[in-house]
Amino acid sequence: MNILVINCGSSSLKFSVIDTLTGADLARGLFDKLGSDSPKYKMESDKLAEAVKGDLPAKASHKEALNTLAEFVASEDVNVSIDAVGHRVVHGGEAFTSACVMDEAAIKAVEACNSLAPLHNPANLLGIESSKQNFPDLPQVGVFDTAFHQTLQPEAYLYPLPIELYKKHGIRRYGFHGSSHKYVAGEAARILGKPLSETSVITAHLGNGCSAAAIENGVCVDTTMGLTPLEGMVMGTRCGDIDPGIIFHLKRALGMTADDIDVMLNKKSGLLGLSDISNDMRTLREASTEGNEAAKLAVGIFTRRLAKSIASLRATIEDCDALIFTGGIGENDALTRAETMQRLAHLGIEIDPEANKNRGKGNDGIISTKNSSVKAIVIQTNEELMIARETEQIVGSK
Ligand code: AMP
Repeated sequence: MNILVINCGSSSLKFSVIDTLTGADLARGLFDKLGSDSPKYKMESDKLAEAVKGDLPAKASHKEALNTLAEFVASEDVNVSIDAVGHRVVHGGEAFTSACVMDEAAIKAVEACNSLAPLHNPANLLGIESSKQNFPDLPQVGVFDTAFHQTLQPEAYLYPLPIELYKKHGIRRYGFHGSSHKYVAGEAARILGKPLSETSVITAHLGNGCSAAAIENGVCVDTTMGLTPLEGMVMGTRCGDIDPGIIFHLKRALGMTADDIDVMLNKKSGLLGLSDISNDMRTLREASTEGNEAAKLAVGIFTRRLAKSIASLRATIEDCDALIFTGGIGENDALTRAETMQRLAHLGIEIDPEANKNRGKGNDGIISTKNSSVKAIVIQTNEELMIARETEQIVGSK
């Protein structure tokens, strides 16, 4: 089955067409600056020697982007048919424990979660509405970042706040990056040669956003992100865990508004805020090599807190077969993996430095020694393939 996977931001639309049989990515592209004076796009297919780049008319929206995309995939040169559309939806609250067809009831249920993800959900819904208009005959499926974490039990998902906040307003921990954690857990089971239902792992998705999850016998039991993707580890521009008292202090002592604080914690903190150089790990590693102390400290805090998160997740599961590294940093930054694993030796994780340097090449991504009681594995995430597979499961294979 060929699935068009769509990931909509408020001014962007990213897509791929995935053949679920082979996992191949048949076409892909990005529309950027939608709604502005100069929307742009870049689309690619393996059948074309070069990417197709261009501009859309001023103020062009997701609908025009989908028109352009539909023409591109159906064009004589690309000629890819589409059987269904899978949409990434960031927040499904407690309403969605798995992917589902986006009918009117499902759309209403996603709208009800908008206040929990005001930047993401309305954009995701815009993509679904536009796609329904552009592809009225195709099934439209929503795949939720939060769904994989819906197996968390109250001990893991409740905040120690007045219980009314949960009961009346749904304030609890939800977790994110579900498609990535689920995908790499499945791959880990394959690599370990065990059924997923007998595999327990800690997955660390380390990209610009970072989260980790504890997965016991294939079921997610805890994760580091919470009501929003701000909780947990240090990220590119997000602070992760801080004393909530800081927020009141910023308001009372510095006169900052809720919006100022929101922007600061989400966009100006993390690696960027600490280093005052960049949110990008590559840039910070380069700066560290050149002796920049702020970059060194930012990265040091990142790995220290990462190791603390993994160690605390380890306390939530009885056995652990492996620690998985994924995401741009997890897959590519050997130093982050080494520094984290050195701190986790007491958990039975023993790094093989040579294997770590080449990401366990030739050995299924395994970067721990043969004697390591808990394996460490580098696995390239593939959220698009996971969304395509879940979409296929919902619409049924042809
Ligand atoms: P993602 O959000 O998954 O695309 O990951 C983005 C993060 O991965 C950024 O901090 C990048 O600096 C980091 N990253 C990507 N490639 C490398 C690399 N080769 N070495 C270190 N960090 C990398």
